[in-house]
Amino acid sequence: MIPAAFDYIVPDSLETAAASLAEAGDNAKVMAGGHSLLPMMKLRLAQPSVVIDLKRLDALRQIRSEGGALRIGALVTHHQVETSDEVSGNCPLLAMTAASIGDPQVRNRGTIGGSVVHGDPAADWPAALLALGAELTLTSKDGSRSVAAGDFFLGPLTTAIEPAEILTAVSVPVPAAGARSTYRKVKQKASGFAIVGIAVCLRMDGDSCADAGIGVTGLAATPFRATAVEDQLKGKALTADLIASAAAQVTDGVTALDDIHASADFRSHLARLNTARAIDDALNG
Ligand SMILES: Cc1cc2nc3c(=O)[nH]c(=O)nc-3n(C[C@H](O)[C@H](O)[C@H](O)COP(=O)(O)OP(=O)(O)OC[C@H]3O[C@@H](n4cnc5c(N)ncnc54)[C@H](O)[C@@H]3O)c2cc1C
Repeated sequence: MIPAAFDYIVPDSLETAAASLAEAGDNAKVMAGGHSLLPMMKLRLAQPSVVIDLKRLDALRQIRSEGGALRIGALVTHHQVETSDEVSGNCPLLAMTAASIGDPQVRNRGTIGGSVVHGDPAADWPAALLALGAELTLTSKDGSRSVAAGDFFLGPLTTAIEPAEILTAVSVPVPAAGARSTYRKVKQKASGFAIVGIAVCLRMDGDSCADAGIGVTGLAATPFRATAVEDQLKGKALTADLIASAAAQVTDGVTALDDIHASADFRSHLARLNTARAIDDALNG
């Protein structure tokens, strides 16, 4: 299908982009790679009157270390994260997550910012960003604010970003030296999206788990941090029995999605199984 008519703006600076977005009002959309936005427009599920293409904002394509965090520009592609030495040296969980997304074409075109703002409940990034305690920087013509990943994802295709805001960066605290992490997902066969995806980051103190971050995507309408599981692990030796009983709590109080890819019961089973396996992989892998 052909999208409805729209005006197309290609600003040269973030300031101009933010001003154009404010001027255009609620019916404008910014575009990163267009990998989700264009299909939505072709299906007429989105009919923006103005599209603001961010492609000239090269400052948003950078990855850098800053104050104990990795600051990843919103236009950084999944492929850039997957292949960055800065990322693999400081936070391999991010590189692993990026490598699991779609196929090479998707990873070359899709951006971390576009994925996060799109808010697909089966997207991979939320699991890692929740597990690692990431912060998102949102910029409008009036300034910038920071939102924790845990407060950003509100529901299917719904996030805490305001219509006049542009996501400019994702900041991920660099895990402590010796932290152990992994990302496990059960993929939809055609697209690669997560039926269930579990990101785990553990900090061990000898045999005892000093800290744990566990992010879950695909299971429910909103990705979430599995704090009940984390609490079971913290301060304890991670025996096989403890991992199994803690992982079983990942579905407590969660309404699992039920769709053509997996029933709610099967998804819940996959979530419990893969949470246990992810903790074990992080610990022993
Ligand atoms: C065939 C296929 C397979 C895929 N497989 C996977 C997969 O396995 N796992 C996975 O996680 N994802 C997958 N994706 C999604 C892909 O990873 C893209 O990141 C995602 O589609 C977003 O595309 P984009 O970055 O081009 O953003 P766009 O499509 O340009 O934008 C998406 C939305 O975000 C908004 N937006 C974009 N950037 C910003 C910004 N900086 N500030 C404010 N708003 C912004 C847009 O207005 C729009 O609403 C797949 C996509 C396709 C087409």
